[in-house]
Amino acid sequence: MYLSRYILGKETASTEGAAMPKVKILVWGYRCERCQHEWVPRAEEEPRVCPKCKSPYWNKPRKTNEKPQTPSKSQLKMAE
Ligand SMILES: [Zn+2]
Repeated sequence: MYLSRYILGKETASTEGAAMPKVKILVWGYRCERCQHEWVPRAEEEPRVCPKCKSPYWNKPRKTNEKPQTPSKSQLKMAE
């Protein structure tokens, strides 16, 4: 899981004349390892692709020194 945690905390808005105190609620989000795009998922389930670059490998950081050992099920070509 590559959840990036947004800064937690409450910020009370000090808007002049505001009757109601505002709080900024921060939530968990995801960050794409490819394009560094950060987003908050609408559903609870993990997104399959990055909404920005559409990469299905958004949660898999690049490994340059990794040797392919096990053949993949669908014979994926190493595109990198
Ligand atoms: Zn991305």
